[in-house]
Amino acid sequence: MPFLSDTLAAVKPSPTVAVTQLARELQAKGRDIISLGAGEPDFDTPDNIKAAAIAAIEAGKTKYTPPDGIPELKQAICDKFARENGLSYQPSQISVSTGGKQVLYNALMATLNPGDEVIIPAPYWVSYPDIVRLGQGTPVIVEGEEARGFKITPEALEAAITPATKWFIFNSPSNPTGAGYTEAELKALTDVLLRHDHVWIMSDDMYEHLAFDGFRFVTPAQVEPRLYDRTLTVNGVSKAYAMTGWRIGYAGGPEHLIAAMRKIQGQSTTNPSSISQWAAVEALNGPQDYLSERCAAFSARRDLVVAGLNACPGITCAVPEGAFYVYPSVAGCIGAVSSGGKIIATDEDFCTALLEEQGVAVVFGAAFGLSPYFRVSYAESEAVLAEACARIKTFCEGLHHG
Ligand code: GLU
Repeated sequence: MPFLSDTLAAVKPSPTVAVTQLARELQAKGRDIISLGAGEPDFDTPDNIKAAAIAAIEAGKTKYTPPDGIPELKQAICDKFARENGLSYQPSQISVSTGGKQVLYNALMATLNPGDEVIIPAPYWVSYPDIVRLGQGTPVIVEGEEARGFKITPEALEAAITPATKWFIFNSPSNPTGAGYTEAELKALTDVLLRHDHVWIMSDDMYEHLAFDGFRFVTPAQVEPRLYDRTLTVNGVSKAYAMTGWRIGYAGGPEHLIAAMRKIQGQSTTNPSSISQWAAVEALNGPQDYLSERCAAFSARRDLVVAGLNACPGITCAVPEGAFYVYPSVAGCIGAVSSGGKIIATDEDFCTALLEEQGVAVVFGAAFGLSPYFRVSYAESEAVLAEACARIKTFCEGLHHG
């Protein structure tokens, strides 16, 4: 009898987590590594948020909390949804978890039965398909083409829907491409979803506050209020407030779904960290002015990285609307041999050789379901990014094409 579960055998370790860990290990061994693998802001958590956490510790707010969030945080989240997204939720419709990842995990575990299908646009964040598999569901991948900014068409969404479809996972601005759907593009998708009332919508809005050049962020329940009753709107404080390690994600949705998610959480982590919850209250209720300052910094970094990558022979890089990722193509490098003698047959080969020969850690495109590409997380200083681009250029210039 195998020791590990059959379900787990179908699941891969998270490649984003693995690349980040590998970069850390190489750095610890003294290697000069530039890590553009993790999707994590380099900025520090703002001081007012840290102070709120310290005050919570000192006030003894260090005990169990209600499983899916303290009332103060649920209210702050309701206020945020109303203020920023025009969405009206009651505290009973809010779930707070240990990161956005646990929100998605709880929702999928609470609703999937074997054979249920979940439509996921590719390229996708690495964990969507594997969490679906953990829930014994079936990921149904719809590819977005680079020529359309990696966004899927309403026709492709319509074609993927079957009687077994339970969820459609939507993510804009996207991890890993940075692509953002305009209101018209999203409306075209919600029009399709309106016609299929058995399909639920899970909107991962984690990169909401990272949108450039005047791009206006929109979320499905806002664009199509008739989908409100079957939409889970997911967000978190990690990316906007530089709080990845605090692990606070949240969602608004129908009460019966939120109650089901609470049941999963009560049987797993019990509640997200009490201290982090108080920090998140301050993040959402406190000053918001640094969001636009940081967004402007990310926009300048995007421009630097796109220009730097497009100067590398064999690489082409589109200009995305948001997040802090770009998703360049390495089509022009496939089939070449690196100066270190590595044959570049896949985007994974490209990334492995780049790490070995130039010490730049990025994540290969196959992990996100669309090749041959790689993901650069440009949440680093401009000096580091310029050095990374120079190293990638040296690597590409060293490729021999047979
Ligand atoms: N979401 C980030 C990323 O894509 C953090 C790592 C993870 O959880 O995947 O890199």
